Amino acid sequence: MISKHKTKQQLILEVAALRSRIAQLESIRGASRGISRGSDHPSSSDAVTGLPTRSMFYNKLSMILANSGRGNSPLAVLFFCLDRFKLINDSLGYGVGDNLLKMVASRLTRCMRQDDTLCRPGKDEFMLLLSDVPDKDTVILVAGRIFEALATPFVLDNHELVINCSLGICMYPDGGENAESLIKNAYSAMQQARDKGKNNYCFFSPHLNAYEFSRLLMESDLRHAVSQHDFSLRFQPQMALNDGRIVGMEALIRWEHAEFGFVSPDDFIPLAEEVGLIEPIGEWVLRVACEHYILCQKCGCAPSRLAVNLSPLQLYRVGLASGISKILDETGLKPDCLEIEITEGALLKDYSTTISTLNALYRMGIQIAIDDFGTGYSSLAYLSQLPVSKLKIDKIFVSAITKDKRCAAISRVVVTLAHNLGMRVIAEGVETVEQLDYLRDLGCDEMQGFLLARPLTVEDSVRFLKSAAKTPPLGKN
Ligand code: C2E
Ligand code: MG
Ligand code: MG
Repeated sequence: MISKHKTKQQLILEVAALRSRIAQLESIRGASRGISRGSDHPSSSDAVTGLPTRSMFYNKLSMILANSGRGNSPLAVLFFCLDRFKLINDSLGYGVGDNLLKMVASRLTRCMRQDDTLCRPGKDEFMLLLSDVPDKDTVILVAGRIFEALATPFVLDNHELVINCSLGICMYPDGGENAESLIKNAYSAMQQARDKGKNNYCFFSPHLNAYEFSRLLMESDLRHAVSQHDFSLRFQPQMALNDGRIVGMEALIRWEHAEFGFVSPDDFIPLAEEVGLIEPIGEWVLRVACEHYILCQKCGCAPSRLAVNLSPLQLYRVGLASGISKILDETGLKPDCLEIEITEGALLKDYSTTISTLNALYRMGIQIAIDDFGTGYSSLAYLSQLPVSKLKIDKIFVSAITKDKRCAAISRVVVTLAHNLGMRVIAEGVETVEQLDYLRDLGCDEMQGFLLARPLTVEDSVRFLKSAAKTPPLGKN
């Protein structure tokens, strides 16, 4: 048993030594090529940051693992990715992007000890090898130093840039036995950290693999659901606060999974966006919502507007306006009955395509509402440049409007802002009469929420609209 183990160790050592020799030879060859071409950067280092290459990192990690008895010298691989780097590259140019990477590399270098190794495996990714770390707490301290080092804004070309990053950590020996699995697992921990939001770190654990596996299953089920149109829509009414009339309804998608039951759109819409399924889903939602609205018109109970949510990814696609126009033609819905809801986050990327798409929609007569207003990170400048007709106060503010002065103040500011810009304002997530009264006193135009109605099935929504047409459900007090 012992001799078998030794043989394996020896083999690992030999392979690592060979890899290291190959890397050495490659770097000599790269250096001589570099010299002959007059380049300053031999291939042993990253041309932008001067950091070691991925293969050098890999070899060093393999070498350390081979030299250490299993688990005798714990180490950690940290994989991190800068958020929104592409946006910086696209909007400010590659020169600024490259300078930013250099500055990030230099700040990160200051967080390391001499024996640690930093490299840049992808354009906005860095990997750090911490050798000989006693425990998780030490790694957490280093992670804290990294976040702190990146927290000070970067000043580049007269722009002050705040950079966030997501960090995945994989510890040896618990997280993997060889260089390949340690790097792979640090990467998947980074992806999970990114799912948690900005500036998060996450340790790899075997559960992560289970998480990825269930995500894979979910992806394949979602593909199946898309091909079978296995979704349904709910419609949530919207009411005018001055006279209690039902003025609109928002279409909300539902997916009933055979095993897990109803999956929240907050969970499967981001997955659909990630795996390229959002366009067929968005098209299906719009078509079926329009058909429902036409049915309500035939029953004589249609409100004046149908609101449909649009994913930012749909918005970035050139040709969206003509796609929508085709669906309107085919279903017979008049453009001025349609309101598109987009979130502020949608305005962060690809601004020029977004602005021309929104202008094209506006010219067709379609109205544009900003959903979850106040929860995004974009500058308010866009409100003066885009044809927005309505702001939706997010339910996070509405839910605390009568209890938290700050939420009340934010809601008041949103109402004033919207009115001063000639827009309407609607509050979503209204659950109590107190909230309703408060919003009415603020001068809010419309409301939507469980107090009036939950999102309703097709049949229930027709019943609701018919009865509301006779008597307004929550009239003026
Ligand atoms: P959203 O567009 O902001 O929709 C409002 C969400 O708040 C809905 O959740 C609705 O059911 C819920 N809601 C309404 N009134 C109340 C209330 O009084 N209290 C509380 N606690 N919640 C209330 P839902 O249907 O789970 O949808 C979540 C999000 O998923 C939506 O937020 C929207 O961003 C997205 N979504 C839903 N349907 C679609 C769709 O067809 N396409 C796209 N791209 N996104 C969709
Ligand atoms: Mg919405
Ligand atoms: Mg919303």
